[in-house]
Amino acid sequence: MKKFIIAILLLISIFFIFPKTGLYGLLFDWDRYEPVDENSTETISDLNQLSPKTKKLAEKFLEKCAENNLAVEITETYRTQARQNMLYEQGRSTPGPIVTWTKTSKHTKRRAFDIVKANTSNPYGDEEFFKKCADIGEEIGLTSGYYFERYQDMPHFEYNPWWN
Ligand SMILES: [Zn+2]
Repeated sequence: MKKFIIAILLLISIFFIFPKTGLYGLLFDWDRYEPVDENSTETISDLNQLSPKTKKLAEKFLEKCAENNLAVEITETYRTQARQNMLYEQGRSTPGPIVTWTKTSKHTKRRAFDIVKANTSNPYGDEEFFKKCADIGEEIGLTSGYYFERYQDMPHFEYNPWWN
């Protein structure tokens, strides 16, 4: 019995305390990331700042879009909470149009990215383009902001794991 308890404790410590990568990372989509300035409000478009699963889906998404001759460019991936807060204040306490409805974004959890149409003077103008991209996203397991019921967010894609 004692041995059994020790084995369980050992397993728990290996699983939860030690490597935040490995099995834990695989199950809970967790990884270590290149540190960024969390106080910065700059846009980050590096795919390596996404959670492992989201990054894989983003790569698959880009591949499929290319196959379908959709010129997609990823404009934003991980978003610091500082940037999210700044975006939230835009149109509320600071000038500019309202661009977000929430302070808790999937971007801050590394599970969302935004796209634009590349090689065009009007990157948000082609709704058909965003619909096609949204359908590809849904097909591979992403949630597409194009289909958000309350506030449509055409350029937005996110990954919603089963446990969150
Ligand atoms: Zn977004």
